[in-house]
Amino acid sequence: MKTWLLVVLLLLLAVVGTVSFLGWRQSVPGVVSLTAPPRIIGQKTPLTVTLQASRGGVARAEVRLVQGGKATVVARQEGALGRRVEIPVTLESAALGLREGGATLEVWGRDDFWRPLRFDDRAIATYPITVDLTPPRLELLAATRYVSPGGAGLVAFRVSGALRAAVVVGGRELPSFAHGPAEGGARVALIALPWDHQPGVPLTLTAQDEAGNTASRAIPAELTPRRFPTDTIELQDAFLTTKVPELLPQRPPSQPLLDAFLTINREQRRWAEDEKRRLGTTTAEKPLWEGPFVQPKNSKVFANFAETRAYMYQGREVDRQVHYGYDLASVKQSPVPAANTGVVAFAGPLTIYGNTVIVDHGWGLQTLYAHLSRIDVKVGDAVEKGQELGRTGTTGLAIGDHLHYEVLVHGVSVTPLEWWDARWIRDHIGKPLKEAGLPAISGAEAADEPARPATRSTRRRAR
Ligand SMILES: [Zn+2]
Repeated sequence: MKTWLLVVLLLLLAVVGTVSFLGWRQSVPGVVSLTAPPRIIGQKTPLTVTLQASRGGVARAEVRLVQGGKATVVARQEGALGRRVEIPVTLESAALGLREGGATLEVWGRDDFWRPLRFDDRAIATYPITVDLTPPRLELLAATRYVSPGGAGLVAFRVSGALRAAVVVGGRELPSFAHGPAEGGARVALIALPWDHQPGVPLTLTAQDEAGNTASRAIPAELTPRRFPTDTIELQDAFLTTKVPELLPQRPPSQPLLDAFLTINREQRRWAEDEKRRLGTTTAEKPLWEGPFVQPKNSKVFANFAETRAYMYQGREVDRQVHYGYDLASVKQSPVPAANTGVVAFAGPLTIYGNTVIVDHGWGLQTLYAHLSRIDVKVGDAVEKGQELGRTGTTGLAIGDHLHYEVLVHGVSVTPLEWWDARWIRDHIGKPLKEAGLPAISGAEAADEPARPATRSTRRRAR
């Protein structure tokens, strides 16, 4: 009697156990999609489809694109794919026969986990997407006609339907700024060609929309070649003995003076160049300057822009570097005026440049004042044209009291000559703005066009 009850109980337990085991097997969630596809796709859109199995591994994965009731399989993988699968997919709209408008991205997946019943014949996730095949509208309004290596220029353009637009010079993207009435949609970019810009390197305008569609235009500027001087600098022990401890205080006593100097002249110089590029992005979105830039009164030029300098030590050449500014000298500790109106973007020591001030004039245009003995401004100060920034000196790698002066466009050093010249500014900055029908920069208005023939003006007057 008791044995019989035990058998029944055991049997009952086996049935309940089996049913609950099968129930658990059935209830384990299947494959989930962890994909985050873009909202909009263009001509060619890469994306990654990610699937993950809750138990076991992914056994089958499929990506489909559905538009107007037609489904196309974009990718399919089968086999032991592992717990988590990442499938790179490139959606090529033309090849898939997609039209502009709505579409659905479907992700199908199946695991290898045994279940009593399978319902795999459906998408595990669907994502609505929009197909956009129209490139942004990009219109070049005007550009500086003649540009030179180590020189600047201006491009005005209009763009619509783009997420971003940029001017590209030699692979480097230069930012642009909205200018003129907001409804006009016009943008302006200052361009800078590095001193070693090679002929044939294109100047391009590009725009890209959210779908990744791009538009580009060549900037029709003509390159006028420019030659740069060379010079030789004799390194004296007296100079090294003074400058090395100032610029490389961490030098081990065993390191020869010349080696320490080369570290300063190469690594610290490169560091300062990187810092100039970085500071070039801290700029006002409108021009702060007016008219031509000024240079210190009664100062003489004794070194030029983009001069290649050979450094000689005990009769042999030990280094070669390019000088990115003008060296201006007058009396010791003479006042250093701000070349134009702006805001102080940097004030402090800058490796080989010693005590340095950088003034931002907006749109990426900046001026740099180096080797100062004293700095009288701080970051964020608004300065007027001619306002004293500090005094000249010999800090940094300076032989003798002078001002090292640079003009930078997006952190690229360009010749200060152009910006000292009112006529250059009118012809190269004012003129393209005028041709584009955009507001002029005060004191940089393009000269009026030559007078029209008399007959025409007579006729107009008669009307
Ligand atoms: Zn210099």
